Amino acid sequence: MEVFKDFFDHPYNYQVEPFRMIGNTYYVGNQYVGCFLIDSGDGLILIDTAMPCFTYQLFESIRKVGYDPRDIKLILLSHAHYDHIGAARIVKEYTGAKMYIGREELPVLTEKKEYILTEGHEYADFDVDGFYQEEQPIRLGNVVIRTLFTPGHTEGTYSFIFEQTEDGKVYQCGLMGGIGVVTMLDEILEQRPLPLHLRQDYIHSLERLKTIPVDVVIPSHPDQIDLFSIKSQHGENPYIDTERWQKLLDKWIARMQDVIRTSKFTPEQPQ
Ligand SMILES: [Zn+2]
Repeated sequence: MEVFKDFFDHPYNYQVEPFRMIGNTYYVGNQYVGCFLIDSGDGLILIDTAMPCFTYQLFESIRKVGYDPRDIKLILLSHAHYDHIGAARIVKEYTGAKMYIGREELPVLTEKKEYILTEGHEYADFDVDGFYQEEQPIRLGNVVIRTLFTPGHTEGTYSFIFEQTEDGKVYQCGLMGGIGVVTMLDEILEQRPLPLHLRQDYIHSLERLKTIPVDVVIPSHPDQIDLFSIKSQHGENPYIDTERWQKLLDKWIARMQDVIRTSKFTPEQPQ
């Protein structure tokens, strides 16, 4: 199934006006995939780069919210799928930023590139400057980002937890790095092939994320929380919702349990 073709044919149809979500964190992605800009007070952090067909939109969005893309100092990649890292090389070249990804994705970036799932679209390799370490958060300016190893969607998916301040209050933001379960369906695991234990890894990852209180869900794809239709109530920032994170994770744990329940594989049975 081709998901990306129309993005390349008509990228302008997927444009989104960028907007501030919370504190100094901005949505600069498109309709399909999220990109997030954080002003650290000492340079910008970009989470995920989207695909090359959207790079001009990404830069334009960053400028529209008042920043210069060349001030991006760090690029944090959630996982090695094309929709999130497709433009990594070009964004890195333009900005000179340091690029981080999970160490567990390295085999995909070097040897098993078919797992990047480019659907045949242009893709350029990029140099990685650092790997996430759970015990060593990413720091820039006044921003500290905890990076948590949350495999499942891919073998090296990482999630990000960071604080932002708004109106004098501190809010915890959470981005689950890869939430879709399609990559773990029977036929996909067989085709690629990928280990069956990713399903249990996925549930474990989401259960672990559930133990972290999150006030603002930062969605790696906007449809995870209907990002564009969330409306303000009583003039409050509509993205602040202390229950949204738990609901999102519970929904996807249930989806994975359905995948496991209807699977022809049992956990004990090797593929
Ligand atoms: Zn993905």
